[in-house]
Amino acid sequence: MQKPAIAGGTPVRDTKLYYGHQYLDEADVQAVVDVLHSDYLTCGPKITELEKKLCELTGAKYAVVCSNDTAALHIACMAAGVSDGDEVITTPITFLASANCALYCGAKPVFADIDEKTYNMDPKAMEQAITPKTKAVVAVDYTGQVVDLDAIMEICHRNNIVVIEDAAHSIGTKYKGKPVGSIADMTTFSFHPVKTVTSGEGGAVLTDNEELYRKLLLHRSHGMTREQSQMTRESEGGWYYQMIDMGYNYRMTDMQAALLISQLDKLPMFSARRKEIVARYNEAFAQLPELVVQEELEGSDSTRHLYILRINPEKLSIDRRQFFDAMAAENIMCNVHYIPIYLQPYYEKLGYKPGLCPKAEKLYQGMMSLPLYYAMSDQDVEDVIAAVRKIVDYYRR
Ligand SMILES: *Cc1c(COP(=O)(O)O)cnc(C)c1O
Repeated sequence: MQKPAIAGGTPVRDTKLYYGHQYLDEADVQAVVDVLHSDYLTCGPKITELEKKLCELTGAKYAVVCSNDTAALHIACMAAGVSDGDEVITTPITFLASANCALYCGAKPVFADIDEKTYNMDPKAMEQAITPKTKAVVAVDYTGQVVDLDAIMEICHRNNIVVIEDAAHSIGTKYKGKPVGSIADMTTFSFHPVKTVTSGEGGAVLTDNEELYRKLLLHRSHGMTREQSQMTRESEGGWYYQMIDMGYNYRMTDMQAALLISQLDKLPMFSARRKEIVARYNEAFAQLPELVVQEELEGSDSTRHLYILRINPEKLSIDRRQFFDAMAAENIMCNVHYIPIYLQPYYEKLGYKPGLCPKAEKLYQGMMSLPLYYAMSDQDVEDVIAAVRKIVDYYRR
């Protein structure tokens, strides 16, 4: 016997629906199998092919694929010259990696509050956070809507600060007609399975700057080169290599690259479906004053990774936690993206205090992420809407 839902009666569905899920077809599976039958499992032709494809997709000159976006953000910070004692500004409403990349370099993450309408980092708050130590900004396209890049780039370039766009959520999005990946000094992507396209684990850095590109290549692979023009001493023979900078092993495998090449063929289809679901949610929730939906940004043609629903505390007798639990009782498993980073125990140990970014903390208190992914059926989408309506009807003040 199923337990009754918190809002009463039987749950709107009897199987669980999660907030994200990958979609793979037979072509994806075959692409991976083909690599397994080939000579190269890593450092092979699929890496070059994928990097070329990412450049074509975004219009960027150079792409460096990595083991994941966390690695991509780390080498992007290194290439930007972030080091001991520097500061890196980012938003608190993002995944841990957007700030941790500064810590990896010995720098201090500085959090700038969000814009209440867009939920993205507010360029004015960012500008106020700039000090002579600011080396880079990690600007996050939260949910897939592009951060105010024009304003951010103008302020940063005036202050000699490198702009790294963390576009983990926004592959496929266009900002003022330009594809994400072609705008900031460096742009990073994530290909984790919950994101729009996946390679299992995977990431990339895109840039138009050749000097940054050379550095990214070194940092991705042990700081090692086999190019005589980069070496400090004469080659000692055909085997010779030099370590000329700091580096890690942040490489992607050819199996992952082949999977992503095949996934990218489906990006237009994935984008279209995500837009359709977002439009349907917006239409349904616009009729409910108990809820607040995220505004569609002007000038951003967005492929959304997340759909954020906020509850209006004046019009509902339950808080976010109760709403979240009530959704789970309807078998709709929501999530919350994200807990403001500086509230994490590790950051507290570093000296960060609650109250730093009040708008971000307020957003966190009242929001949750609804299921949003390509493979959702129309019925799944209607189930989510039915569950939200049922809970709102039950707890309306
Ligand atoms: C997912 C995500 C990351 C980390 O990506 P990985 O590929 O899992 O390392 C970084 N930033 C944001 C905003 C993300 O959503």
